[in-house]
Amino acid sequence: MIYSLYIYSAKFQKMNLHEYQGKSILNSFGVATQRGVVVDKVEDAVAAAKKLTEETGTGWYVVKAQIHAGGRGKGTVEETGSHGVVLAKGIDHIEEKVKGILGGHLTTAQTNGKGKLVGKVLIAEDVYYPGETETSEFYMSVLLDRELGRNVIVYSTEGGMDIETVAENTPDLIYKEVIDPRVGLQGFQARKIAFNLGLSGDAFKNMVKFIPCLYNAFEGCDASMFEINPVLKTSDNKIIAVDAKVTLDGNALFRHKDYAAMRDVTEEDPTEVEAGEAGLNFVKLDGNVGCMVNGAGLAMATMDIIKLSGGNPANFLDVGGTADAERVEKAFGIILKDPNVKAILINIFGGIVRCDRVAQGVVDAYKNMGSIPVPIIVRLQGTNAVEAKKLIDESGLNVHSAVLLQEAADKVKAVLA
Ligand code: GDP
Ligand code: MN
Repeated sequence: MIYSLYIYSAKFQKMNLHEYQGKSILNSFGVATQRGVVVDKVEDAVAAAKKLTEETGTGWYVVKAQIHAGGRGKGTVEETGSHGVVLAKGIDHIEEKVKGILGGHLTTAQTNGKGKLVGKVLIAEDVYYPGETETSEFYMSVLLDRELGRNVIVYSTEGGMDIETVAENTPDLIYKEVIDPRVGLQGFQARKIAFNLGLSGDAFKNMVKFIPCLYNAFEGCDASMFEINPVLKTSDNKIIAVDAKVTLDGNALFRHKDYAAMRDVTEEDPTEVEAGEAGLNFVKLDGNVGCMVNGAGLAMATMDIIKLSGGNPANFLDVGGTADAERVEKAFGIILKDPNVKAILINIFGGIVRCDRVAQGVVDAYKNMGSIPVPIIVRLQGTNAVEAKKLIDESGLNVHSAVLLQEAADKVKAVLA
């Protein structure tokens, strides 16, 4: 797949939710979930557990760290050694278990080696009922299959573990049900899924009710993904969502103000948040070449050309139509926050904005910032490109001009070598 398209589908315009938020959405669509109460202070934990007992009758609880990463059950809290999901066998253990997680830094297989600060924990009913063994854990997710151009329900009998591992070791145990958008999810499809999961009797019936509710939730909130791992069959044959990983489509949030309010910026990259506030469309990546471009399409093409010439984009950045000195300076500041950046490629097409104005903006921003510690390659094309090139070439700064995109890429390669 083309690099920029891959990045686009993986990183752009996605809003992740916490488990407790995902479960509240699921509930509103009639999906049965493991019930729980969320707290952000240790002092509130016992009262929350009592409330939960009043509502559900549960005597045992699971305490679950709320962070935007999976694998919490096997993850470890740096400060205390506790796992991110733990069982509390009675109300007397709640406070101690919550203390082990809340306010600590949780590292899991999905946190890129850095612990994530746990600001909230979910105290949930224990649904694996003490002493009972007749439970089964399944995997189920709903997402858009980009190749088929259709929504799919992906499911497996092997729930509760990392689905990538299942895909690697036992790919035959992962099933996929494709939904035809003209008719939506059909009853026979829900029955087929329940059958493939090996269910019968009440569990079968409950799964057949569970699946359409889950699918309606996915469609109804314009989600990019719903991943429920595990879906649990309890010993009394209920089917419930024990975990919920929900990613919403940021482009649809304008029609879901209540979901938009669920955004937790503390979970996001701080530079991305700052850029967003400055009106810059910025996505942080792992490479070494910073990019500053006007227009999303040109920005994607620029990332691809960097990749093709052997570099790696450090970011996607669309500065928009008005690339004046102020915006360019802000963009420089944001790109340079990343210590991995070894060069910056500016690629601006001067249609509405004149190239010489942008070039002046680059030179002014450079001078305002005192100095910029990495070489800059500037490609300006369009209105007054010749004047712009002259401005850059005569600036006396560590800025190199280029006319063709390939030439720009070659210069990037040269400064990295
Ligand atoms: P993840 O590790 O981030 O995916 O978090 P999950 O919510 O999936 O929980 C991790 C694991 O904790 C699950 O796979 C279950 O095995 C276990 N777990 C979750 N809820 C309960 C519960 O109510 N009782 C018990 N005994 N275990 C639970
Ligand atoms: Mn899980």
